[in-house]
Amino acid sequence: MEQTLALIKPDAVGQGCMGTILQRIEKEGFHVRAMKMLRLSSKEAMAFYRVHEKKPFFESLVNFMSSGPLVALLLEKEDAIRHWRSVMGATDHTQAAEGTLRRQLATALERNVVHGSDAEDTAREEIAFFFSTREYI
Ligand code: ATP
Ligand code: MG
Repeated sequence: MEQTLALIKPDAVGQGCMGTILQRIEKEGFHVRAMKMLRLSSKEAMAFYRVHEKKPFFESLVNFMSSGPLVALLLEKEDAIRHWRSVMGATDHTQAAEGTLRRQLATALERNVVHGSDAEDTAREEIAFFFSTREYI
């Protein structure tokens, strides 16, 4: 079994898409091991996306990610990292495959409704960023 960190981003929560995304997570066979809603401070959003700190879109991304509540989920499944990213679709929703969450729900390149860890080491780090071990089910 593999674990990954998923986020339902503030645009999705604001658009009322939380339920649609949670339903898809269950339908795809992921086990939800932990879940919480919270709002990131801009400092926390900067830390979470620090790999992008030199990119021109960093400041806007940090403002977006700290603009309202988001939902963090610890998902578990065989091949969870790759599977969740395939359900999300490409970063740019206009390039995302039919049937992916971003194709279905995203409204802009930045406002792309979900996040997923991209490798085993980043998954471990990102899970620890949002959850302490006593919050896992
Ligand atoms: P995420 O890390 O959120 O799962 P990703 O791995 O598909 O998304 P990254 O390259 O890590 O994509 O970019 C992080 C986030 O930054 C994107 O999800 C998007 O919200 C935003 N972003 C990426 N590229 C751009 C861009 N060129 N212009 C504006 N925003 C962007
Ligand atoms: Mg990424």
